[in-house]
Amino acid sequence: MNRHARSRTTVYAAGALALLAAATGCTSGGDSGAASAALVPASGSPASGSPATAAPWPSRPGSPSPTASPTGAPAAGDAAAWAKWHLTPLPPAPPAPADKPVKLARTGPVPVFSEVKTSDKVVFVTIDDGAEKDPKFVEMLTDLKVPVSMFLTRDIVKDDYGYFKRLQALGNHIHNHTVDHAQMSKVPPEKQKSEICDAQAALTQQYGTPPLLFRPPYGDGANTPALNTAVQQCGPRAVVLWRESMQIHDMQYQAADKKLRAGDIVLAHFRGPKDLKGETMTQMFGELLARIQEQGFAVARLEDYIEAPAA
Ligand SMILES: [Zn+2]
Repeated sequence: MNRHARSRTTVYAAGALALLAAATGCTSGGDSGAASAALVPASGSPASGSPATAAPWPSRPGSPSPTASPTGAPAAGDAAAWAKWHLTPLPPAPPAPADKPVKLARTGPVPVFSEVKTSDKVVFVTIDDGAEKDPKFVEMLTDLKVPVSMFLTRDIVKDDYGYFKRLQALGNHIHNHTVDHAQMSKVPPEKQKSEICDAQAALTQQYGTPPLLFRPPYGDGANTPALNTAVQQCGPRAVVLWRESMQIHDMQYQAADKKLRAGDIVLAHFRGPKDLKGETMTQMFGELLARIQEQGFAVARLEDYIEAPAA
């Protein structure tokens, strides 16, 4: 709402540059792969050379149509939509579990987790920071109906809160990723608290719902008592980390065998060509979906596996 608060913007300018630089390094370790030789434009043009398919949805006897979502599970986009983005469709996500594997308490210490216990062949996609605001990515998620959870940094998104409202309108949830991407273990407890509480207030005001989850930048300090206390004081009820981190063409895996496991939480970022060696947000995200598809997983909505505290 304060888009025209120029004086504040000026005051923050130097810090904003620093935080934007830091924002590109949400995880340690840079991209491992060289830029690919042939990037297929993600447009409506016919596919050339990419594994585009118009394959029908995997048919399961008695399964509902791909667009039906009678159980609250994310609806799956149709095959034509996937073909438009030169992608092979992911399996549809199973219905959201009635008995949530993660149950959050209203008070007390918050849990820290990087995966969800489930036998469903699903992974969860989270996207951090908010630097890149590519309209094509809204179009992509509108077409594909892949659920994502967004961990937004206030000072990185405050110039265009509206962009993320469009993604929220697709059913995606917004969570807390600090005011300015501070490395939490390097700042005193009162600063940790303001980093979380001030972001919580801004995101609640903008998006209408208090963020349920918090992710510290770089995952730093996640298991410290100071951070846990600060989270408790500010409102989020869990600290969420990740098992895999998307780079440009592939994920960095924590597992030695470099394979996804059921319930893994995957980290990606709102990044554009400057940070992706020329690739766009939608190209990076398409590659992420391809890596998930190759391993036979569906993408489920993280919040469908979490029971929020009773009011
Ligand atoms: Zn981050």
